[in-house]
Amino acid sequence: MSYFDSATKNAAKYLRNHLMLEKEFRLKSSHAHELVAACLEMNSKAAASVNAKDLLDPDFPEEMGWIAQTGDFVKTRIERLGENPKNRYLLKLLDSSDQIAEVVAQALKPPCDFCGRVNDSTKIQGQKYGDPYKWACGYCVNDHRNTTVAACHFCDRPENVWLTKDLKGPFRLCEYHVDEPN
Ligand SMILES: [Zn+2]
Ligand SMILES: [Zn+2]
Repeated sequence: MSYFDSATKNAAKYLRNHLMLEKEFRLKSSHAHELVAACLEMNSKAAASVNAKDLLDPDFPEEMGWIAQTGDFVKTRIERLGENPKNRYLLKLLDSSDQIAEVVAQALKPPCDFCGRVNDSTKIQGQKYGDPYKWACGYCVNDHRNTTVAACHFCDRPENVWLTKDLKGPFRLCEYHVDEPN
């Protein structure tokens, strides 16, 4: 299965679970896939699998930043789908468009390179194609036994995750913050 296929499948499932837990909203599987496609700024699942396939690549972390910056595409898609009387239940999600985009963007990110956890990974700053560690989950970033990755306390989240070897000084700060007066 390609990364695109497994990631979009995971995102649709994660979105359905999220809406059930947070809002007791039962989203149909087919509609979950439509909304995931909308987060990829595509008008349908079919279009997404053709056009976004190459853009969704865990080996190129710099290129995944564009996914679902806002819920605008989600909102438009819900409005469009909701025109069909059978799909009118979706209109209840209009106010949640931004939240849906956020949840889907998180679930489309690759699993943690240390433990394999999904739906919780953050891009490791400064890592590019060919580097062994590019994604880390919150658990591994905060786990003191993991000496490979850590957070700079002065960086804003989510851009605060670095390889420990790139953090300097007694307070382990990133290159941008190491010289800042404390
Ligand atoms: Zn992890
Ligand atoms: Zn920093």
